[in-house]
Amino acid sequence: MVIIFSKKAASRNDYMNRIYLCLAHMSGEEQKYIQEAFDTNWVVPLGPNVNAFETDLEAFVGQNKHVVALSAGTAAVHLGLIMLGVGKGDEVICQSFTFAASANPIVYQGATPVFVDSEPDTYNMDPQLLEVAIKDRIAKTGKKPKAIIPVYLYGMPAKMNEIMAVARKYEIPVVEDAAEGFGSKYRGQMCGTFGEYGVLSFNGNKMITTSGGGAIVCPDEEAKKRVMFFATQAREAYPYYQHEEIGYNYRMSNICAGIGRGQMTVADAHIKHHQWVHEQYVKLLADIPEIEVHSSPEAYMESNYWLSTIRVKSDGALTRQSQLVGERKVVEPCKIVMSLQKSLDAQGIETRPLWKPMHLQPVYKDAPSYINGVSESLFRTGLCLPSGPCVGEQELLHIVSEIRKFFDTSHGKK
Ligand SMILES: *Cc1c(COP(=O)(O)O)cnc(C)c1O
Repeated sequence: MVIIFSKKAASRNDYMNRIYLCLAHMSGEEQKYIQEAFDTNWVVPLGPNVNAFETDLEAFVGQNKHVVALSAGTAAVHLGLIMLGVGKGDEVICQSFTFAASANPIVYQGATPVFVDSEPDTYNMDPQLLEVAIKDRIAKTGKKPKAIIPVYLYGMPAKMNEIMAVARKYEIPVVEDAAEGFGSKYRGQMCGTFGEYGVLSFNGNKMITTSGGGAIVCPDEEAKKRVMFFATQAREAYPYYQHEEIGYNYRMSNICAGIGRGQMTVADAHIKHHQWVHEQYVKLLADIPEIEVHSSPEAYMESNYWLSTIRVKSDGALTRQSQLVGERKVVEPCKIVMSLQKSLDAQGIETRPLWKPMHLQPVYKDAPSYINGVSESLFRTGLCLPSGPCVGEQELLHIVSEIRKFFDTSHGKK
């Protein structure tokens, strides 16, 4: 039986005395699988751990999906786009409010990202604005976007019924970026299983880790085989090295997959713990009027609460602006957020502003964007709080009391 560390933090090891956003936590089983790999000399990017980890992941996500373990979540986004035939001259719609890894592979393929803003309930892709963007791209370019990439930020499910309805209406395939949404559910179905392809990440700070790694959720065995082909340098079935297409070195190592197998034994416990931490924040921060903890808008959207986030309410209610803004300006986290982050840091507590939207990133300044002000407001006013298995009751009380102190003193006042 797996431990559920509801009260006590898992050991912080050499990171002691500082509370991090989300530290890796080992089950103790990982070493066994790694040892097995060494004992049998499977120290290569394939082998029994890779196969078993994929089987574990297939059982975990369900829906008869087929999973390929990869070197990173970013590789999974890239291979998803390759599988959908995204190439030069194509446009791909991507949630603007995300980590750059959702969007960069679009550029790897020589395609153009088109950014769509978020809606205020989930902080994820706004389905209405998605349709506005699709119509406008068709009008402007005479061509449909080639794919849609919604993201489950901080674990929160996106409005998938609405997004999939738009995607189906225009017959555009979806690549779900569930890198942060491992184990989150929408109407009982695992995130990452709604679109044509789903992306998972096992980077060091994610819900479970393989030190670095990812996986792609595929619709069927045929797609899985084709993904494996591209992930292993597109080597054709010849007795010598024959290449007819461009491939990549994206497979997961058998050592990393051993860590993944061990992590799968605590995946459910990790998710429960993150959800428990979020529940505590909601309860313990409820009486601080200046902030709100972001929570799932509907019971059927079950967030894994990978990271709990708060929003300083100084911008007023989080609403869509009636006009598409679209014009670029310098946007930064507001003063209160910056000084709260600094003051918590001085108390040994790591926090981080929410993602800076892609449409505000210098590297994407020329990308077409459909903006409603929501992600800009979130970037200005949001902060991620420590959330992993290394946050126990004692850590929570410390974090909450420091936040309270901040708002009780003049720092938090305008
Ligand atoms: C972590 C992350 C990724 C990329 O995963 P890697 O495994 O780090 O390559 C992609 N998208 C989002 C939203 C992420 O948070």
